[in-house]
Amino acid sequence: CGIIARVGETKDAVDELLVGLENLEYRGYDSAGLAVKNGSGPAVFKREGQISHLKDMLIDEVPAGGLGIGHTRWSTHGPPTDENAHPHTGCAGQVAVVHNGIIENYESLRAELSDRGHTFESDTDTEVIPHLVEEHLDRGATPEQAFRRTIRRLSGSYAVAMLVEGSDAVYATRSGSPLVLGVQDGTYFLASDVPAFLDFTDDVIFLDDGDVVVIEPGGHEITKLDGTPVERAVQTVDWDP
Ligand code: GLU
Repeated sequence: CGIIARVGETKDAVDELLVGLENLEYRGYDSAGLAVKNGSGPAVFKREGQISHLKDMLIDEVPAGGLGIGHTRWSTHGPPTDENAHPHTGCAGQVAVVHNGIIENYESLRAELSDRGHTFESDTDTEVIPHLVEEHLDRGATPEQAFRRTIRRLSGSYAVAMLVEGSDAVYATRSGSPLVLGVQDGTYFLASDVPAFLDFTDDVIFLDDGDVVVIEPGGHEITKLDGTPVERAVQTVDWDP
């Protein structure tokens, strides 16, 4: 029920994602997870239950990385299990995706993907997203093209954030679920709600439904799904903790 992402130069994404996840606890959740870009592909850690269970997985070695996405899940499709926790990956593990909301047409997408040889590891509606993205990547699309083409196939409500192997960006969009961007010099935080990143910044860009944001360390670009550029002002929020 909450998304957090962190994009920056310094390699401490995991520590900041864990702070963000704990700040999102008030929204309620049954599982938590994160993915960090560590070397080439996204490394995924996820657990059913409390955020402390996730932290236990990371105690011995905190993976270093500047880019990461995190999620607290409130199950809608599939029980709270380790497999159903987000992030979700495709067959090749090239892509990691977190999602809030419900993909209404996931059954037909899943049937279509299964016919084309995809196998699924979870019961979630979400898992169709990384599989669709991977198909587009396999056909030669850039990560951004693959993301846009996949999002066009979805109906329902969603806030989505994605990491891709070999790319230094986080790709995200929203439609019917909240998503805000926090800006702190060249470092960015993406979250379902402002309190998630107030420990780091109170400079916020509020995204609208249909906005697509591509975030790299030091720069971001907001467009509509068709690529039309959008200007959104940075606002400093006065938020009572
Ligand atoms: N529908 C997704 C699931 O069941 C996302 C739920 C959420 O918003 O946390 O995994």
